[in-house]
Amino acid sequence: MSVSFTQEQISQEAHRLYGLLGSVSKTKAAKWTLQDCQEAAPLTLEINRLKKEKNAVILAHSYTGPELVYGVADFRGDSYELSLKAKETSADIIIFAGVWFMAETAKIINPSKQVLIPAGHAGCSLADSMTGEDLARLKAKHPGLPVLCYINSTADVKAQCDACVTSGNVYDIAQKIPGNELIFVPDMLMAQNLAAELERRGTPKKIIASGGSCCVHDKYRPETVEQLRAQYPDIQIVAHPECPIEVCRLCDYVGSTKGMAAFVEKSSARTFGMLTEFGLVNRMEAEHPDKTFVWPFGTCSYMKRNTLTNTLQALAAPLPGQEVHVDPATAAAAYKAIEKMFELTK
Ligand code: SF4
Repeated sequence: MSVSFTQEQISQEAHRLYGLLGSVSKTKAAKWTLQDCQEAAPLTLEINRLKKEKNAVILAHSYTGPELVYGVADFRGDSYELSLKAKETSADIIIFAGVWFMAETAKIINPSKQVLIPAGHAGCSLADSMTGEDLARLKAKHPGLPVLCYINSTADVKAQCDACVTSGNVYDIAQKIPGNELIFVPDMLMAQNLAAELERRGTPKKIIASGGSCCVHDKYRPETVEQLRAQYPDIQIVAHPECPIEVCRLCDYVGSTKGMAAFVEKSSARTFGMLTEFGLVNRMEAEHPDKTFVWPFGTCSYMKRNTLTNTLQALAAPLPGQEVHVDPATAAAAYKAIEKMFELTK
């Protein structure tokens, strides 16, 4: 793929990127340098040019790299925020820098658009933990119970659920579901956090869960929190509800990616422990250069498969594995569960 810009254009773009990424960690030990930005610049220039030419919109999940999030994305955010953008867009092409279930959701919501995912069939340990057949068996064991699925699930699973939820609206939606028992799939750790929150709200429900977990968030342990507090006495620690409940109970805030970002924004604390994926740490560093973010560990290798190079490929001449197709009958059934979520969060 030939990309040609003048040295002056590349230098200007590199300085634009450095202005955005100069305070952002590239690895745990190193920040983005001007040299890194110089290497990224020809690609971001070409992606942004092609995006206009083809009337494409780029949605980048916060867990992808900052060169995508700040270099080329039109919208950045978590699954829920990006699914709303996918629903509203008037672009002809949606480039979804994320994982497969997210791009699949965008296609279900907006089937007339061409939906492309730079990383191709990038999985997710949660979505991949349950097939449609698995859910059919679980439902057969508990006939008549309402079924909620986390958005991190395949189209086949969504198609068999009453409503889809995200980490930002799961508690409110579960509370609105009639009855005192429900099936929640595929995240067993979020199911535990859900049961505890419903109990706390005075509306307890028995939750029938499956056995999936996020391979990033399920690694944190109470000792992680204790070590951070010992090292940084004034630290505020945030966690995602995909983390184990013993960890969540020790944190100052537990919520969605959007919720964690809002907590950091509003808090007067200076130091934050981030029990979540590195990409959100990068976003916080870019958006709050006056605050310090301590990240023990946690990287989603699926999300990091999205790069500037494969984003350019998807825009210029998509490979067959980069285009998302969903069986129309499955998409129609899954759409109802997603629409129910939008309806219940109004
Ligand atoms: S961070 Fe966890 S839940 Fe999110 S895409 Fe990666 S594996 Fe899936």
